[in-house]
Amino acid sequence: MSDKSLPFDLPKLQAISKQFPTPFYLYDERAIRAGARRLLRAFSWVDGFQEYFAVKATPNPHILKLLAEEGFGGDCSSLPELALCERVGITAEQIMFTSNNTPANEFVKARELGAVINLDDLTHIPFLAERVGMPELISLRYNPGPQRTGNAIIGNPAEAKYGFTRPQLLDGFRQARDLGAHRFGLHTMVASNELNAGYFIETARMLFELAVELADRCDIRLEFVNLGGGIGIPYRPEEQPVDLDEVSHGIHQLYDELIVAAGLHPLRLCMENGRCITGPFGYLVTRAIHKKHTYKEYVGVDACMANLMRPGMYGAYHHITVVGKENEPHDVTVDVVGSLCENNDKFAIDRPLPKIEAGDFLVIHDAGAHGHGMGFQYNGRLRSAELLLQEDGTVRQIRRAETLDDYFSTLEF
Ligand SMILES: *Cc1c(COP(=O)(O)O)cnc(C)c1O
Repeated sequence: MSDKSLPFDLPKLQAISKQFPTPFYLYDERAIRAGARRLLRAFSWVDGFQEYFAVKATPNPHILKLLAEEGFGGDCSSLPELALCERVGITAEQIMFTSNNTPANEFVKARELGAVINLDDLTHIPFLAERVGMPELISLRYNPGPQRTGNAIIGNPAEAKYGFTRPQLLDGFRQARDLGAHRFGLHTMVASNELNAGYFIETARMLFELAVELADRCDIRLEFVNLGGGIGIPYRPEEQPVDLDEVSHGIHQLYDELIVAAGLHPLRLCMENGRCITGPFGYLVTRAIHKKHTYKEYVGVDACMANLMRPGMYGAYHHITVVGKENEPHDVTVDVVGSLCENNDKFAIDRPLPKIEAGDFLVIHDAGAHGHGMGFQYNGRLRSAELLLQEDGTVRQIRRAETLDDYFSTLEF
């Protein structure tokens, strides 16, 4: 079971909403920091372990800054994400630039910042060398493809647009070396929101075996392997969080068996998680504005899919708490909907909830990652504010809500 209790109560929300009207995102600083420390502690056996927080998950500089204070770098895939890192002082090899189909100017920016460039394709090697020069440190992204088809743990990477095939990888490291690179990293990321600890251990095995092969066959000595992101979170109350100590322990054993035994120690490990770092610790707070009874029961709230796209886009489950009614019987089955003119604008479908009245606060859980950042303005719905519940209990606005002026600001009219 995962804990769906809240780090705030009804009076606190009532007070916050006097200053910042709903809907808004609320991030729990204390819990984010504690989670960051748990990850680093789990991998403390690794000399130079580095987590590069996937900026796309929560692209707010205040969040990046507090994670940087915990020792995290940033994983970027676009120019604005690089710029966000630069603004908060995450630079040089604290940045992992894991992009794909990358425009030349983004490679230029990554190179200027001294970021670790993690290439997605063989053709990017000459492209990078010609446009910006080959850096001394280069990382390549591996896609295991059909070799892993049928492995329920890994999923189906052959259908994914990312990364090098295995023969391309060997070729790629040689090409990069011929063009002047002399420090090397290897990356993969083939699943997301994965709750099975064994999956990450198997991914590490795959990368460790490749590290040994690269040393044997190409005389390429890797400096690091990057396991990517994708650690899942228990969106549903009956799900369990990934046991990071189990993941770490399994990887440690393989490290000894494969890397140490082959004389390849030290090999640094890194990760680029987003979801598990901020996801469970961010909430979308909204209020019921209407109830509707037709063929079904509806509760309309003041947030919509433009604020949180995951339920509409993926059919994703997000737990909902009706604040102050946690202990009332959940005996009304409702669809919780926003006001987009799209029928997939539903935060929940056929969800048993307590009886809701207009004005009630509904908290949509696990919205801290891939939430606000996926927001959009379709149908003239504007992005909400983001608030930080600080460690001292006070609330700070870290992004204001969009206004009508923002909506018009890009129009030449
Ligand atoms: C999205 C992404 C991540 C982060 O994934 P999470 O599921 O948020 O952990 C990391 N690396 C790459 C390359 C990604 O595309």
